Amino acid sequence: MSASERFVTVCLQGLRKIPNCSVSYSMLRRCWMERLTDLPNFKYQISNLCTQSNKEVIDLSKFSVDRIRNFCIIAHIDHGKSTLADRLLEMTGAIAKTEKNKQVLDKLQVERERGITVKAQTASLFYTHQGQSYLLNLIDTPGHVDFSYEVSRSISACQGVLLIVDANQGIQAQTVANFYLAFEAQLTIIPVINKIDLKNADPERVESQIEKVFDIPREDCIQISAKLGTNVEKVLQAVVERIPPPVAIVHDPFKALVFDSNFDHYRGVVANIAVFAGRVKKGDKIMSAHLGKAYEVNELGLLRPEEHPTQKLFAGQVGYLIAGMKDVKEAQIGDTLYHQDQPVEALPGFKPARAMVFAGMYPVDQSEYPGLRSAIERLTLNDSSVTMQKDSSLALGAGWRLGFLGLLHMEVFNQRLEQEYNASVIVTAPTVPYKAVLSSAKLIKEHGSEEIEVVNPAQFPDRSVVSEYLEPMVIGTILAPDTYTGKIMSLCLNRRGIQDNMVYVDEHRVMMKYLFPLNEIVVDFYDLLKSLSSGYASFDYENAGYQPADLIKMDILLNGRPVEELTLIVHRARAYSTGKAICERLKDSIPRQMFEIAVQAAIGSKIIARETIKAYRKNVLAKCYGGDITRKMKLLKKQAEGKKKMRRIGNVDVPKDVFINVLKRKDK
Ligand code: GDP
Ligand code: MG
Repeated sequence: MSASERFVTVCLQGLRKIPNCSVSYSMLRRCWMERLTDLPNFKYQISNLCTQSNKEVIDLSKFSVDRIRNFCIIAHIDHGKSTLADRLLEMTGAIAKTEKNKQVLDKLQVERERGITVKAQTASLFYTHQGQSYLLNLIDTPGHVDFSYEVSRSISACQGVLLIVDANQGIQAQTVANFYLAFEAQLTIIPVINKIDLKNADPERVESQIEKVFDIPREDCIQISAKLGTNVEKVLQAVVERIPPPVAIVHDPFKALVFDSNFDHYRGVVANIAVFAGRVKKGDKIMSAHLGKAYEVNELGLLRPEEHPTQKLFAGQVGYLIAGMKDVKEAQIGDTLYHQDQPVEALPGFKPARAMVFAGMYPVDQSEYPGLRSAIERLTLNDSSVTMQKDSSLALGAGWRLGFLGLLHMEVFNQRLEQEYNASVIVTAPTVPYKAVLSSAKLIKEHGSEEIEVVNPAQFPDRSVVSEYLEPMVIGTILAPDTYTGKIMSLCLNRRGIQDNMVYVDEHRVMMKYLFPLNEIVVDFYDLLKSLSSGYASFDYENAGYQPADLIKMDILLNGRPVEELTLIVHRARAYSTGKAICERLKDSIPRQMFEIAVQAAIGSKIIARETIKAYRKNVLAKCYGGDITRKMKLLKKQAEGKKKMRRIGNVDVPKDVFINVLKRKDK
């Protein structure tokens, strides 16, 4: 018997003595795995499992459709969505009231570390209003533009939204974007002004903004402090009174939408479903419309926010379902589930997300390819806005080209791969999806169409076979105090932006719209905008089609060897300045080595910029004379650790993060 099996057996014997405790072998094994890295967390998990299995039995049949409200919380980043969710969970008894409840719905390590929500999270609450009990399903959503796909999917499972606005900061770019998502989906919008406890809070001014920009009467606004809990009860009342119940019929055949999904190492696919009609119970035989495969329901229940198993789920309700799906291709987000013997028409599902940046991802060592593939597949099940296609490169071997909604999204994905799947990757410089209109009849036949998309700079077609290149455009929305207007306009101009319009949302704040080439804003525009406006400006963007552009491919060479990770497509007018800047930044970020390194930028065979990294003068280790063995060991260890984070190109070691960092410009 292995150590883990012995442990699990002993625990199971102990736990069986607790009445009603139905902790399973797989749950314990999961805890065991976690125990290896985190003992306090293991204890917490065990106690959680015990209470979970002792949880009261909830009879969901008493919540008929008119007693259900489904809503999500949307807002600009940091306006207090997750904090309000904490209070709502506490007030309805879903979690115990303690000082420690800080953004409890942000469960991922990356969310905790960065202090942002990247995944929408569901929680079911029980609330009594005027003597009637209601089932409220809340979805907390991310605020950053890179995760707007989470918001749009959440909205499809809801009838109303809480639109939170910070009483100090007022309406920001994502407030506007999220408002329109909810407005277009015809949801009830409840405006909530948060942080009224702050010294500089000006809720009246924010009410005027809401009235002016969204045309919502100021009387509809609820002023709260999510931190202190002030007026949060009013929010719950408004949810019941203003948001309509879902339209769902219990007597119709079962039909459910999979609106989120994640992969559990031991239980397979856990699908989050919204039941649109009928009912489903444990043991039912269900089908997935997407693959046409049949499954038996093993477990289902509510998310409160922890899983809380129930016997059944009914029309209008939201919960989770496990049906022995072992492959990530099963229970895809947007799929429809129905009873095997009662086929229904599939629900429309979701519009696929449109990737804004693409980057190559490669295993550090080719032997890690299969493991990395399954890690990426599992993570993309949980984050369906990522697109994935096979790719290969001479220098890096076999890998993938992944599409993301933005750079932060890409960084978060990478971090999740490392943290949740212990997988390390080489990422190439991100690029936006360009297009080329082919002129060569042979190529058109090969590709099956005149227009092709180019997401890998290495495959950028040569000018001689192309009649026109096209670049993706976006409409950017910037909100900022008017004192920064001048600075912002010059930044936009610098990024080839064309002003579309500009309006005052109140006496001191302007909203500007600009047409930008996506390439100009995707890497670092937001950071710069933030710093030049002391953090007061906010930014969001949406697609605006394609425009012809004069594009060329630029290679970066280290000691004469092209670095595939850094090949990029640039606008001709920018080629020299970009090439020069990248060479300079590479010079600063590649550590000195035992020999001189030439850093060059080239267009075709023509070198357009060059920098030189000088060689080390002395070997640091040489200084450690005989006796100082420990210091020598330490230095050697440090060097070896450093090397792991390096990628070797020819004989030059390059830190892995350089490939993205060198694209970040520092213009004023
Ligand atoms: P989210 O990004 O919209 O989910 O925002 P969070 O809930 O993570 O909150 C962002 C920050 O605002 C955190 O530091 C919270 O503690 C703080 N915050 C949230 N609500 C309030 C409030 O009512 N008053 C004050 N003073 N701070 C708040
Ligand atoms: Mg949040």
